[in-house]
Amino acid sequence: MRIVESVGEMKTLLKSANQSEQTIGFVATMGFLHDGHISLVEQAKSENDLVVMSIFVNPLQFGPNEDFDRYPRNFERDSKLAKEAGVDVLFYPATSEMYPSEQTVTVSVQSGTNVLCGQSRPGHFDGVATVVLKLFNIIEPDRVYFGMKDAQQVAVIEQMVLNFNLPIEVRRCETVREEDGLAKSSRNVNLAPEERKQAVAIYESLTEAVAMITDGECDPDRIKSFIQDQLLTKTDGVIDYIEVLSYPELKEISEIEGEIIIAIALKFAKARLIDNVTLTV
Ligand code: AMP
Repeated sequence: MRIVESVGEMKTLLKSANQSEQTIGFVATMGFLHDGHISLVEQAKSENDLVVMSIFVNPLQFGPNEDFDRYPRNFERDSKLAKEAGVDVLFYPATSEMYPSEQTVTVSVQSGTNVLCGQSRPGHFDGVATVVLKLFNIIEPDRVYFGMKDAQQVAVIEQMVLNFNLPIEVRRCETVREEDGLAKSSRNVNLAPEERKQAVAIYESLTEAVAMITDGECDPDRIKSFIQDQLLTKTDGVIDYIEVLSYPELKEISEIEGEIIIAIALKFAKARLIDNVTLTV
């Protein structure tokens, strides 16, 4: 596995991949790797000649009072895990390499950001879209792999690829979970032991909500209040949002039908957890 820290070196490497007509699969991450990230690499490996992973904690997508400084980092461990997973090129740029001067031109996401994480993290998806577009331009992948754990991010990236005519296929990848159902996340290490136990209620309530819908419930408000009751009784977390929306449009719905997302964000003392399920009714 080659570790590349500069955009210039990445471009040189790419040239030879392009000359030999190798396809490139790309997995963008912020590091502190877990099985969720590795599952993206596995899917990328099965569909491409070369797999590039990036590790970059992007300051542009964190708000002033968010966890940029507290975000867990361990490059030595990550590079070992990436190598074991079969990553061919690990792109690990410094902030000064990605943003050598002020980023005065940015991507502005116009739709689907007034809900879910977009509402509670203003500017977050502009920061995500901007860094992802930069990474796409640096790496020039054929296919990119994004986890449905961040379903709103998937919707934004798909729309960006469409709107900017990027010659890239976006692959939606399933959420990988702990044995008890908690979605794997780099932020889980910031949970206190008691919070970790309580966090199980997030996926449990999503699963029960899906069962209610399968049994015929079609009122989004009843689903939301059911989940709210569950989280309030089973956790000490603070509810950031509980939403039932159309997917990938992320529009409010008065009745549950078609492709929908049920999404939760729950704040514990040092970790804000998100999870969701999408289903077609
Ligand atoms: P992050 O490092 O959190 O920015 O995540 C990098 C990529 O991994 C994103 O496409 C995430 O959606 C994806 N990802 C994060 N957690 C999981 C998970 N538990 N299962 C599948 N994909 C995930």
